[in-house]
Amino acid sequence: MPEAPPVFRFAPSPNGYLHLGHALSALLNFDAARAGSGRFLLRIEDIDQTRCRPEYERAIYEDLAWLGIVWEEPVRRQSMYMSDYGEALRRLEQDGLLYPAFETRAEIASLVRRREQVAPWPRDPDGAPLYPGEARLRPAAERDAMIASGAPYALRLDMAAAQARSGSLTWREDGAGPDGETGRVLAEPEQWGDVILARKEVPTSYHLSVVLDDALQGVTHVVRGQDLFWSTSVHRLLQTLLELPAPIYCHHRLVRDDAGQKLSKSTKATSIRELRAAGVTADDIRRKVGLPLA
Ligand code: GLU
Repeated sequence: MPEAPPVFRFAPSPNGYLHLGHALSALLNFDAARAGSGRFLLRIEDIDQTRCRPEYERAIYEDLAWLGIVWEEPVRRQSMYMSDYGEALRRLEQDGLLYPAFETRAEIASLVRRREQVAPWPRDPDGAPLYPGEARLRPAAERDAMIASGAPYALRLDMAAAQARSGSLTWREDGAGPDGETGRVLAEPEQWGDVILARKEVPTSYHLSVVLDDALQGVTHVVRGQDLFWSTSVHRLLQTLLELPAPIYCHHRLVRDDAGQKLSKSTKATSIRELRAAGVTADDIRRKVGLPLA
C-alpha cells in the first residue's frame, strides 16, 4: 500500500495582520509539504469572536497568496465547528476531569496577590500565575445551582486527575525548544496548572480546539513557533485523554525585531502588508526570514 502523504498546516488567528514570524511559519510548512510530496492546509483559528475580525481573515488569504503559498480548499474555520469541541468537553466531563470555576479575572488576581504575600506563587511557561482557586473542591450540588443561576464560569482541567489517568507522556520533537530540547521530550503539563478548556461564552479554548482539529484534519507534522513549545505538553495530555494520535512536532526559531523582541501583531513595521505596500517582494520576505528562495 502506498504510504499516506505527510500533512502540514498553518493555523493563524485573524486577530491582527500577519507579520514576518507568521511568514516564516507558513513558508516552513509550505516548503516542507512540497519537499515531502505532502499536503498543506490552512486553518483559521477564530474561536475568540471578540478579537477576530473578517478584515484580518481576508488579509491572511491575501498575504499568503502574495507569498506564493497555495492551500487546500475548503479552509477549516474553527468558529464553524463549536459542536465538535462540545462533544470532546462532554467526554472529559464524563471522565470526571473537568470542573467549573466561577472566579472573575479580578478575583483570581487578588487570590494570587494574597498567596504571594506568603511565598512566590508558581507561574506557567508564559509567565501567567497558575490557577490559585479551589473550585475543584466545591460540592456538586453547589456547582449545579451556580450554573443554573446563570453565573459565568470557566471549565478547568483537573490536572492531577488527568495526569494520573494519562501517566507520563513524551513527544517527538524534530525542531527544538527554548533550551534546545529535542528528540524525545518529556511532557510536563503540570507546568500549566488546571488550564481552562472552555468558558461559558467561548465553549472551547486554544488547547482543546488545536488538538481536535489537528486530529480531525489528519495533521502528521505540527511546525510552529518556539513560543508554543511548552503548550505541546498540554496537547499531548489532551490527545491521550481523548484517544487521538500524536503528530510529530517541529518548533522553529522566532523572528525578532531589531531590539531582540518577539514580533507582535500590532507592530506595523514587520507586518507583511506594510512591507508589501513599501515595495518589498515575496523573495525579499524569504530572505528576511532566512529561508532559501522557492
Ligand atoms: N493559532 C495559533 C496562533 O496564531 C497557532 C496554533 C498552532 O500552530 O498550534 O498563535
